[in-house]
Amino acid sequence: MPSNQLLNQGPKITGLAVFYLHSCSVLVWLWIQGQLVIPQQNKFIRSGRKADEQKFSNKRSLDLMPYGKADWVTGTQTEPVIHEGSRSKQHTEPKRAQLRHYLWAAKELYGIDATGQLHLKRGDVERVEPDHEAVEADHTRLREMLEEPMPEPERIRICKGCTNKDWCWP
Ligand code: SF4
Repeated sequence: MPSNQLLNQGPKITGLAVFYLHSCSVLVWLWIQGQLVIPQQNKFIRSGRKADEQKFSNKRSLDLMPYGKADWVTGTQTEPVIHEGSRSKQHTEPKRAQLRHYLWAAKELYGIDATGQLHLKRGDVERVEPDHEAVEADHTRLREMLEEPMPEPERIRICKGCTNKDWCWP
């Protein structure tokens, strides 16, 4: 399917949707169905948002709508580097997938071959290469999930800090 048709049907294919896809099957299902309730007053969410605003406010961005918004961008217009920060030390694969999605979006929207840099805790920086095939497989999976019932929750490491835990594990 031509990717611009994604805009007219199915879930919103954003970086956050891809992030959830690689985090937890329940989270992503709730998100694409528009049913994920995020408590706005949660102190960790508020402090995380504030930290991001302070960190990225003076950095250059690249409009990747409707596919989401990367944290910041450097480099030239023809050879940009898209940056994404990870607040987690161990739970980094979802962020890599999110960044690969933005590299795909840069190609899709502007025809440019961007590379990625993932900024980990403690200042480590990891290069992330494009993998458009993997990203399109993620998009297909997101569309498929729209037609599926909610998966059974499985206890995973991130359940501990998850805003949905009271629903999964009453
Ligand atoms: S509590 Fe665990 S299983 Fe439930 S949505 Fe969160 S991460 Fe997924």
